[in-house]
Amino acid sequence: MEKNGVTPNIDVSSLTDQIETLGTQEPKHNSLQESSHDVIIQAVDDDPILSITTFEELKVHENLLKGIYEMGFTRPSKIQAKALPLLLKTPPQNMIGQSQSGTGKTAAFVLTMLSRIDFNLQSPQALCLAPSRELARQIMVEVRKMGKHTPVVTAEAIRESDIKSTVGKTRNEEFASAQLIVGTPGTVYDLLKRRIINKTHMKIFVLDEADNMLDQQGLGDQSIRIKNMMPKDCQIVLFSATYSTQVRTFAGRFAPNANQFSLKVEELSVKTINQFYMDCKDENHKFEVLDDLYTLLTIGQSIIFVQKRDTADTIARRMTEKGHKVINLHGGLSTTERDEVMDGFRRGDAKVLITTNVLARGIDVLQVNLVINYDLPLDNSSRRPDYETYLHRIGRTGRFGRTGVSINFVHDANSWEIVKAIENHFNREIVKVPTDNWDTIE
Ligand code: ADP
Repeated sequence: MEKNGVTPNIDVSSLTDQIETLGTQEPKHNSLQESSHDVIIQAVDDDPILSITTFEELKVHENLLKGIYEMGFTRPSKIQAKALPLLLKTPPQNMIGQSQSGTGKTAAFVLTMLSRIDFNLQSPQALCLAPSRELARQIMVEVRKMGKHTPVVTAEAIRESDIKSTVGKTRNEEFASAQLIVGTPGTVYDLLKRRIINKTHMKIFVLDEADNMLDQQGLGDQSIRIKNMMPKDCQIVLFSATYSTQVRTFAGRFAPNANQFSLKVEELSVKTINQFYMDCKDENHKFEVLDDLYTLLTIGQSIIFVQKRDTADTIARRMTEKGHKVINLHGGLSTTERDEVMDGFRRGDAKVLITTNVLARGIDVLQVNLVINYDLPLDNSSRRPDYETYLHRIGRTGRFGRTGVSINFVHDANSWEIVKAIENHFNREIVKVPTDNWDTIE
């Protein structure tokens, strides 16, 4: 149960044991393939964390190396080892990268951004977009840690907090001197349009959660407009754990002549995340099962995903009434509330976070060892299973080789079909946890 020196403190130990005895279906193995034009490497079906390369071999600048080692990173993960030599090349080349959740994609692009900056030039040179303020803030924390021994000047381009920042600079001054900017597309676009962010010297443009950022139903328009404002020779770097076929085609136009890393659908699931479902009698019974789960089991930190903000509020209220200490985060809260909830969860002040898809992607809290899909992820327009969101949601656990558990609530024929479809899609068994006899679990 121990991996990378981390012991999961989930005391669903017998549940985890059960998971292991019940077994999981191994994905089919795939071989390495390369195409003739772009570098397309299908990852071999092995551990995405372990690599034999060192950061020194990747010729990372010594000030950045210092930052990396202080973060506790001893060796690069597979995606870092494979992508960094291509990302750091001169002249710069575009990249469309894919690797499973929690395998260290952030460090790969943060290191690239920091490596590209001329610290003598007080002007924006690296821009990274993320789909949520929580993820943008998290990326910035990684930038500041990794760049600790460099003079990098940074700025967050997210909606301003209702509480005034303690930094003495105005927003205009902050962005005028910033060299590396991380933000959400709406705010970044606004700041670029108003020329508060100067694009002239921009050298690298990164889209984290790229498939989400290019989605035509969502953030795609803004990402395209921002990209069109970047200088022609700006390096474009896209990273995500998932790309639908449609988005990948578009990504190829967005980042032309890119080096590409792609995974086959069977390789996408993180093997250390054990996937379960629980049978509930109906919608109401789901809450009883949730209450039982938290009453009967000792759980470390966990995230409960629901489809709507209202449900998040209702479940949070009812769980509180039942005596469980929970917190709740969704897009309907103020920026200050969102920051407070997220910071509290990261500190471990609260163990149970109820949320919507706003936190499905990217959020990295290593102690999270259980993810519950109280509502299964559905595509809002087609009402079909949202496979990508499913993978991202359960990927909030099992970070960087750690073990994790995900539980899906099934309460009717439709939700049953969704679980089966997800199982088939990723070719990974989702195992039943009995809800009628809790003794078998504890
Ligand atoms: P991804 O973006 O692929 O979902 P992250 O970049 O958030 O994954 O990395 C997951 C976790 O692993 C983070 O807590 C990160 O600090 C850690 N991490 C990343 N690279 C390394 C490394 N080389 N060695 C140890 N830990 C790492």
